[in-house]
Amino acid sequence: MQFQAGTENEQLLSRIENSIEEGRVSHAYIIEGPEHMDKPAFARAFAKGILCPQRRGDHCGSCAVCDKIDHDNHEDLICLQRLKTRQSLGIEQIKQMQAQISIKPNGPRYIVIIEESDRMTEEAQNCLLKTLEEPPGDAVLMLLSENSEQLLATIRSRCIKYRLEGSREVREEEISRRANEVLRGLLDGSPFYRIRKTLGEVGRDRQEAIRLIDGMQERCRELILSRDGNGVPYSAEEIGNCVYALEDARRQLTQGMTPAYVLKRFILSVGG
Ligand SMILES: [Zn+2]
Repeated sequence: MQFQAGTENEQLLSRIENSIEEGRVSHAYIIEGPEHMDKPAFARAFAKGILCPQRRGDHCGSCAVCDKIDHDNHEDLICLQRLKTRQSLGIEQIKQMQAQISIKPNGPRYIVIIEESDRMTEEAQNCLLKTLEEPPGDAVLMLLSENSEQLLATIRSRCIKYRLEGSREVREEEISRRANEVLRGLLDGSPFYRIRKTLGEVGRDRQEAIRLIDGMQERCRELILSRDGNGVPYSAEEIGNCVYALEDARRQLTQGMTPAYVLKRFILSVGG
């Protein structure tokens, strides 16, 4: 499969290619990966690997099928996206797709790509479940997600999950960016759920959680140093409270407490 996924994902790509070559294509996949990873491009490369008649597993990139997928006008490829005006993907979009795939495809099978699938409403997810239980024909569903744990367990249990790893450099940048955003949210008194959302899937892993704490401490130091005359809108006490809470969180992490629990406690202790 031709996809710029970095060396971290090479093994995964060749595993997928092999399974297509051997005709082991499942009905439903969850493709999970960090925000910066172009999951729709990955899903399209995967779709080409399945549909391209020239090669199986890999794709030729030049036949009519590959060309149509590249130009987003392949009749059997259905892409569901959240409407720009909506927070989530609703049941109407799922129903529309179900009606579409109940008709015979032009080629061998339909491929349905659902972007930001973890933002489907619960109603939409329950409706989708019917398709996962009895997929019409050889339809293949690809659920793209940043954090698949937000999908219903009944959905997850019916899908094969592939996790794309982001490049380490980009990951570091992401952690540092989120550290700044979380800290700003805390100092601005944002509600817990919003800060938790800012955090996304960063910090599930212990090492990452520690780097997140490092990032926030670094930012606190900068704020303290630039407080004189630079228009920092927070008091020394507010920043100080954060520093204490960060030290507590770091201690708890090194003592072996679960990262998710430590971060939750930290957010709630500062404000949230
Ligand atoms: Zn092709």
